[in-house]
Amino acid sequence: MFKGILIEKDESGYRANVKDIDDAQLPDGNVTVRVGFSTLNYKDGLAITGKGPVVRKFPMVPGIDLAGVVEESAHPDYKAGDAVVLNGWGVGEGHWGGLAQKARLNGDWLVPLPARFTPQQAMSIGTAGYTAMLCVLALERHGVKPGDGEIVVTGAAGGVGSVAIAVLSKLGYTVVAVTGRPDDADYLKQLGAVEILERSQFSAPGKPLSKERWAGAVDVVGSHTLANICASTRYRGVVTACGLAGGMDFPSTVAPFILRGVTLAGVDSVMCPRAERMIAWQRLGTDLDIDKLGAISRVVGLDEAIPLAHQLLAGSVRGRVVVDVNR
Ligand code: NDP
Repeated sequence: MFKGILIEKDESGYRANVKDIDDAQLPDGNVTVRVGFSTLNYKDGLAITGKGPVVRKFPMVPGIDLAGVVEESAHPDYKAGDAVVLNGWGVGEGHWGGLAQKARLNGDWLVPLPARFTPQQAMSIGTAGYTAMLCVLALERHGVKPGDGEIVVTGAAGGVGSVAIAVLSKLGYTVVAVTGRPDDADYLKQLGAVEILERSQFSAPGKPLSKERWAGAVDVVGSHTLANICASTRYRGVVTACGLAGGMDFPSTVAPFILRGVTLAGVDSVMCPRAERMIAWQRLGTDLDIDKLGAISRVVGLDEAIPLAHQLLAGSVRGRVVVDVNR
């Protein structure tokens, strides 16, 4: 038996509870992992609360991230004792995930734990941090350089936003943070933001084009915020879009794209090919100041993860939540 969060849905409703689960219930897979740490991402919040249609099968163990040690493997790349990390691939949505003491998975989804990180540090980064790195890689791929001008990061005090600020500032970019929590200004400045803007300036319907300001952007909010960021991006600037914390819609016009040559680069972490994942994790190893992870993250147990999932969706959780599944 092992402990895990189990999401059930039946005639008595949708619920998530910490339960004792029989090993025999583990799904099919060629690698069994003893999980050390998992995390709470926005998507885990949607899964645990049932506020978004994230879970595709019931019962489900949520958790789109895990770090642990291989217990048994029939996969050629892994053997018992190997330290591994997993992000995405539909785990915690259609296949049992990381918010439990054990997971059985397809070995192709795993990456070796990067040498520079402990399992807990890797989960302080988690999908949110790895997605932030994918956004940085997309900015670089489209030619945005530190000297080009300001980079705006929305949802700045959340998981993706916090890591994006830390990485971009370490790389020498000038980062402007957009947040609904101006009280967290000191935290955002400590991560490397040079200026803090109130998110209400971006969340209302705006003009098709406004004053050019941003050389690049990392947007986790979507909706009017993304449209306003595109409208205020400089000629040939690059906007990376990875989230929908403010809404799934995108009420923009083509003006920024056809008149200013702005590039809108979509970022997906879930099905991102393995080679790019490896690059993202390697770059996190060199371009993220590990000392900042202590400020970005806090550690909780499985029991605390359920109430925190509700707070995360309410936008009141700062940075990253690491879940010690054995606490
Ligand atoms: P968090 O909950 O940690 O952060 C989201 C932040 O967005 C909040 O902290 C808040 O920041 C801001 N926010 C919340 N609600 C609103 C709102 N209504 N309007 C404007 N801003 C809001 O989530 P993550 O950082 O883990 O994820 C952020 C987004 O990115 C989510 O939509 C998530 O689904 C998406 N995502 C996508 C991935 C992909 O593969 N494409 C991978 C990972 C995440 P503040 O208080 O500073 O304003």
